Amino acid sequence: RARVVIIGAGIVGCSAAEHLTRLGWTDVVVLERGLLFEAGGSTSHAPGLVFQTNPSRAMTRLASYGVERYSELELDGKPCFYPVGGLEVAATPERWRDLKRRHGLATSWGIESHLLSPRECVEKSPLLEPGNIYGGFYVPSDGIAKAVRISEAMARLAESRGARFYGGTEVTGIEVKDGRVRAVETSRGRIETEVVLSCAGMWGPRICRMAGAFPQLLVPMQHQYAVTTPVPGLEPESEESDHVILRHQDHSMYFRQQGERYGIGSYRHRVMPVDPDDIGRSGEGMPSIMEFTSEDFRGPWEEARRMLPALRQTEIEHGINGLFSFTPDGGPLIGPSTAVRGFWVAEAIWVTHAAGAARAVAEWMVEGAPQVDLGGLDVSRFDEYARSPSYVMARSSQSFREVYDIIHPMQPMEEPRPLRTSPFYPRQRELGAYFLEASGWERPQWYAANEPLVAGRDIPERDDWSGRYWSPVVGAEHQITRETGGLFDLASLKKAEVGGPGALAFLQRMTTGQMDRPVGSVTYTLMLDPGGGVRSDITVARISRDLFRLGLNGPQDVAWLQRHLPEDGSVWLRDISGGTCCVGVWGPAARELVQSLSPDDLSDEAFGFFQVRRIHVGEVPVLAMRVSYVGELGWELYASADMGLRLWDLLYGAGRPLGVIPAGRGAFEGLRLEKGYRMWGVDVTNEHDPYEAGLGFAVKPEKGDFIGRDAVLRRREEGPRRKLCCLLPDDPRVVVMGSEPVYAEGRPVGYVTSAGYGYSIGRSIAYAWLPPALAEVGQRVEIEYFGRRYGAAVAEEPLFDPAMKRMRG
Ligand code: FAD
Repeated sequence: RARVVIIGAGIVGCSAAEHLTRLGWTDVVVLERGLLFEAGGSTSHAPGLVFQTNPSRAMTRLASYGVERYSELELDGKPCFYPVGGLEVAATPERWRDLKRRHGLATSWGIESHLLSPRECVEKSPLLEPGNIYGGFYVPSDGIAKAVRISEAMARLAESRGARFYGGTEVTGIEVKDGRVRAVETSRGRIETEVVLSCAGMWGPRICRMAGAFPQLLVPMQHQYAVTTPVPGLEPESEESDHVILRHQDHSMYFRQQGERYGIGSYRHRVMPVDPDDIGRSGEGMPSIMEFTSEDFRGPWEEARRMLPALRQTEIEHGINGLFSFTPDGGPLIGPSTAVRGFWVAEAIWVTHAAGAARAVAEWMVEGAPQVDLGGLDVSRFDEYARSPSYVMARSSQSFREVYDIIHPMQPMEEPRPLRTSPFYPRQRELGAYFLEASGWERPQWYAANEPLVAGRDIPERDDWSGRYWSPVVGAEHQITRETGGLFDLASLKKAEVGGPGALAFLQRMTTGQMDRPVGSVTYTLMLDPGGGVRSDITVARISRDLFRLGLNGPQDVAWLQRHLPEDGSVWLRDISGGTCCVGVWGPAARELVQSLSPDDLSDEAFGFFQVRRIHVGEVPVLAMRVSYVGELGWELYASADMGLRLWDLLYGAGRPLGVIPAGRGAFEGLRLEKGYRMWGVDVTNEHDPYEAGLGFAVKPEKGDFIGRDAVLRRREEGPRRKLCCLLPDDPRVVVMGSEPVYAEGRPVGYVTSAGYGYSIGRSIAYAWLPPALAEVGQRVEIEYFGRRYGAAVAEEPLFDPAMKRMRG
């Protein structure tokens, strides 16, 4: 028997054991089919370069925790981490510009970094030819992790607290009864347990299949790594490296010194996926290495010798096609299964992120929630279409190709598209919608048909970066929404129904708000994790005594609710996103428009703010909610997808004479920023409590118990650790994109979450997390954007219609 069985003793499994035992779960068994600790998985072959900076704050935090932990560890007197520093160089002007952005990102996420001239780069990486580069981005705390040593050192710590490690023990089955894990079957017998954590890396899909838990969400891919013959002038006795680790992203390559040799990694080759069932099948050699295909390395080798001319005096001594995991969005897979209780995964994790990911999963298992932002890590973030084998293969291949690409924050996936379309899609195409993709949905960003409306309006142009995926039409749609009205397609909103005799009690437990309100009420509320972090913000509409309609943030919300459903069957939950469409009809003319099509009384007396009613719009049965995310009078109109086109045509036709236009997501963003409406996952995550996020109004502790209640009350007592603030740049035309660092008195103090332009107030807007002492209105700060600082000040919010006259109108 064991409290928890971990499958796999690579760096992730060993680190998970260390963190679980550290948090008090000491009865841990780790099973590894290979030999401890050079077990034959990806860990055995990783050259261990740790570059911490990542567009994702969460990923960067996992990495910097890794650096901290790996630096403390030793194995038999040998270090586990060499802090040699990391250098990313630019071989193109575009990359050089992007490295300035990376410098901003690193600063935002709390990592010291410097931009270096070509000469300074050569001081750090002496084999570089300075004539080939524009400059470099240098992080002194990056370095080389000895992955196998770390695994063993972590394992020893775990063993000292009671964990047991068994090598040469293959897991052959997972016993599941009544939807719960009961035992693990191995080549050496059976172990009873109620909790299994799969850290089987690229074999994860096989383990998941044994449990009947997740479909295959990762794809093992070959990746080339080669080592040169000795480089003249390098010292044979230097154990690891005196040179920094080096990235040459314009050619998808990286380099590290390995004593007197150089190691070269390349992603610049064809995508070579491998079936997890085929890995290690032959039983010979190291299962995670395949034969080096030298023809794939020809181009990279040439480029390596161009960038580092000293390598012209060397040959490739040996190379491997090593295997590790890629996922549809490049992120790791962490968290519990909803289908099989007690089954957890921590897979598709780099050496760089292993300790951080292990800490997150251990906190989640023991304490009910990780401290780090879960958004991009949670294994339940994938919708059902995104779990299909063809999607997983297509997107994972793309994440392999893009591993070092410059990715704009709004860049949509190109393939496979279109995947999900709302019933309005044919009309939107006729109107020249420019579509971006969100959760698989084709989502209009603006409509070319509105181009003539731009004339005569003050819509400032944008720079090359913030002007991508943007058009001046966005500004016109924004202003016209406030002048007359806009029709917004809200297809990408996650919608669910919760019903049954236990539904009210269930929602009371899951949310911070009072759900016991009259039928016909809509409530904006929060779901917290047990530590009081904001797990999501949602709307709950009470349709009848035992039936509620929920507006959610994504599949991870559905999974979270499902995992908490009472086992007595008194509550059911149904994701209705696919079959339900929704139009937001917002603006001063919204009432006149919808009323002209409906026999129902839509006056303020009959249909008040934050109310829900079943009405007809023409022939279309509609669930109408009087709410608005853009701060205008109006409704979200929900209908079944079969009648969606009719709904659109009616609204569009009746809206035209009133000057109501279809408006896209670009306008929506600016409108919500003017109103200060937070976007979960961008402005607020589970790392924040409601009070610091400005969402304290949604917490009603007097209603009784709910998940996170004690913790959130404690958090309120303790006061905010930081505050989400509204910033107005001095130059109203400087528009940033989010994730930029914020400085006060020359020091980095916070970072921007979302940003955009308020076309009604004629100002650029940025929201940012700042220390409480700097959160006062009028506080001067600077925002750094591509290496330049722009003055800004904390502003009173909301910026538009603070008395909410328009929505209540
Ligand atoms: P693994 O190390 O693969 O461990 C999984 C373990 O599960 C294996 O030991 C396996 O034997 C065991 N297992 C599987 N099935 C069973 C079963 N049924 N029963 C019992 N045990 C089982 N990352 C970086 O951060 N920086 C780098 O520079 C870097 N470079 C890389 C270069 C190469 C060539 C390769 C191959 C990878 C590189 N990586 C790098 C990626 C990194 O190595 C992996 O992401 C990481 O090691 C994965 O660790 P893991 O513990 O999840 O998986």
